[in-house]
Amino acid sequence: MRQPLVIGNWKMNGSSESISALLSGVVAGLGESDGAKVAVCPSFVYIPSVIAQLQGEAIEVGAQNVAEQQSGAFTGEISVAMLKDIGCRYVIVGHSERRALFAESDVQVARKFIQVKDAGLLPVLCVGENLAERESGQALAVIEAQLQAVLTEAGAGCFESAVVAYEPIWAIGTGKTATPEQAQEVHKYVRDFIARESKSTADKLQILYGGSVKAANAAELFAQQDIDGALVGGAALSATEFVTICKATN
Ligand code: PGA
Repeated sequence: MRQPLVIGNWKMNGSSESISALLSGVVAGLGESDGAKVAVCPSFVYIPSVIAQLQGEAIEVGAQNVAEQQSGAFTGEISVAMLKDIGCRYVIVGHSERRALFAESDVQVARKFIQVKDAGLLPVLCVGENLAERESGQALAVIEAQLQAVLTEAGAGCFESAVVAYEPIWAIGTGKTATPEQAQEVHKYVRDFIARESKSTADKLQILYGGSVKAANAAELFAQQDIDGALVGGAALSATEFVTICKATN
């Protein structure tokens, strides 16, 4: 009952030329396939040209980050109203690279989440533990705290019309994927956490796995009951890899 969703997170990669070629490859590769919902998240500057190139295609576009403020004197920031204005549908919030490298706190992540929801766009909330936390048996507690921080700020019902991505930090860009069983355990934990508040919201919630997803491991991840798709980094920069991942949801 949950439509699979595959989102490509291109991070700070690409040029006008390489992105246009990548998109052409993805569009041609996906063809008329009607399995997963597919979205790509280019860096901000390329979003308008990507949207233009995807005119008439089913692929949607998202941003990798957003300001926590609405508008005003925030030099260098980009508001959710701007993202909506140019036609974005999704916004990734709380990616571990933002949390770790740009010191985004749980509260800031929650504020961004709220901005995105209030604008009527879909937040893709990333949660995940680091290696030390996993090895000390803290993974589920860390993830629960990250979800709870959003729930506390954004209030009951906030996971309705949202997406959650479980991205174990030790698996991002490392070539080391969580096993399907490890990922499933966390995905079920996330769904159960949200079900405590609303079973119907939890049943509908798309929970994506992210962390070294590639063509070779996508199908076994998607075979798990609570894995509804993927947030794909490195492999999303190759049209053939990305298309194979999208098709593996079927
Ligand atoms: P990766 O990145 O697929 O390159 O591990 C995933 C992500 O950071 O979203």
